[in-house]
Amino acid sequence: MMIVMREGASDEQIAHVVDRVEQVGCSAHVSRGELLTVIGAIGDRDRVSGLGLEGVEGVDHLVPITKPYKLASSQFRKGERTVVEVDGRRIGGDHFGLIAGPCTVESREQTIDVGRVVAAAGATMFRGGAYKPRTSPYSFHGLGVEGLRLLAEAKQETGLPTVTELMDARDVADVVEVADVIQIGARNMQNYTLLSEAGRTGLPVLLKRGLSATLDELLMASEYVLKEGNPNVLLCERGIRTYESAYRFTLDLLAIPALKELTHLPVLVDPSHATGRRDWVEPMSLAAAAAGADGIIVEVHNDPEHAICDGPQQLRSSQFADYAAKVRSIVEIAGKEYSAV
Ligand code: PEP
Ligand code: MN
Repeated sequence: MMIVMREGASDEQIAHVVDRVEQVGCSAHVSRGELLTVIGAIGDRDRVSGLGLEGVEGVDHLVPITKPYKLASSQFRKGERTVVEVDGRRIGGDHFGLIAGPCTVESREQTIDVGRVVAAAGATMFRGGAYKPRTSPYSFHGLGVEGLRLLAEAKQETGLPTVTELMDARDVADVVEVADVIQIGARNMQNYTLLSEAGRTGLPVLLKRGLSATLDELLMASEYVLKEGNPNVLLCERGIRTYESAYRFTLDLLAIPALKELTHLPVLVDPSHATGRRDWVEPMSLAAAAAGADGIIVEVHNDPEHAICDGPQQLRSSQFADYAAKVRSIVEIAGKEYSAV
């Protein structure tokens, strides 16, 4: 249930409604917009309707939320879109972000080198995995704490905020030391305890769509983060499993407009993991930007032939500036503002 307060409702009136909602065992999430404050009452709908809040001072009206996800629902923000802001960079609403960097942190030279290149080309944030989810238990799984240390060094060098994956709740203390945005990978999209843990860090969470997850499942996963009082979730379409085997995954571009109707959260696209091939990354990036994506997260390497993982799909750092310029031109056509500092 959503309780829409009147324009100019006082703090006392809002606090009173929150108290009443909590008294019946529901939780209240207050969202203050420019004009209106909306209180999401999460819990048993009948109990909240039974409170007779319609007559209470400061309350305008009540709206039932019909979707299984509540806080992620576009109804919850009444048409306002979430804008995630990190160190002055914005993603969501009218703002577009380009997050770029290697699949995994391999060495100091590689990390700093790629960091410098993407920063010089105006990337919004830097990505790189210190903990890697791999299909085979015998593959490289990331440099761990040493990788995080290299990411911190890259940030010092470039000033770009860091996006890095958290795979295991036991690493959360190390990851929050370095990450500005915590990535939850496709394989962990339904790891609910990890989602709650990431939510509790208070850092923005970049949540990737599971390999075979529906949009409803993705949004329910985001609800675990939001429920912790963390409003900063970035959703990411990264390709799904279909019967087609000609490419790594099927990039579901229709998820962009569909999600934008269902949720107020920003929607990103990862063309690297979806396509699995460098030469398909640019066309799919341009298509994603044209379809209204709020951002792109893309893999870039200084020597992809020798990359430890995902070499064939990583853009060469020498081509990144040209790629970024093309993305920016489509972002402009799509009517968004490219976010860089
Ligand atoms: C990644 O972005 O590093 C990654 C492993 O992606 P995904 O979880 O989408 O496979
Ligand atoms: Mn990768």
